[in-house]
Amino acid sequence: HYRCRSAFKLLEIDDKLHILRPGLSVLDCGAAPGAWSQVAVERVNALGTDPAVPTGFVLGVDLLRISPLEGAVFLPEADIADPGTQRTIQNLLPAGKVDVILSDMAPNATGIKELDHQKLINLCLGLLNLSQSILKPKGTMLCKFWDGRESHLLQSRLKEQFQDVRTIKPQASRKDSAESYYLARLYKGK
Ligand code: SAM
Repeated sequence: HYRCRSAFKLLEIDDKLHILRPGLSVLDCGAAPGAWSQVAVERVNALGTDPAVPTGFVLGVDLLRISPLEGAVFLPEADIADPGTQRTIQNLLPAGKVDVILSDMAPNATGIKELDHQKLINLCLGLLNLSQSILKPKGTMLCKFWDGRESHLLQSRLKEQFQDVRTIKPQASRKDSAESYYLARLYKGK
């Protein structure tokens, strides 16, 4: 019932590393068509389906339109790198903050590997910047990157701001040889 196979990457990562729990609030960046948001809605109990555990919150943002999903709030046709979008996100979040930032964002690939790599690293660095205003202390950030010469730069920035940073290569994305994820946990805050 997932909108896209990419769901299995997040399920696999979360089964192993437990980043989503009932009651957490999540920002899903690059959310279209919405499969990661579906997983997040289930795992944080955003619909309150299980009354015995806390109810979470999911906000998905994308440049594209996204079909509505019960339990999620979507901000479509919005560029995460745009300061206007960032203000809107803050206003939509409960108390203006999240526990988890997910990013499966990918720029339109040009086919020039080095350029695509750089664009995605820049998107991730921008997100890291945004995390300073919206991520709760001890929060988590999971972001996709395409490996290349600037990966270590992103990794060292993450290490400055999070206590625990690891590289993940889900089985579900083995086909795509360049794709990996950084999982950064325990945000140090300001
Ligand atoms: N995780 C999604 C799912 O499971 O349905 C799939 C995400 S898809 C691989 C990458 C998405 O990132 C695309 O929909 C694209 O529009 C979005 N994206 C790329 N750059 C973006 C930006 N600057 N702001 C917001 N979304 C962006």
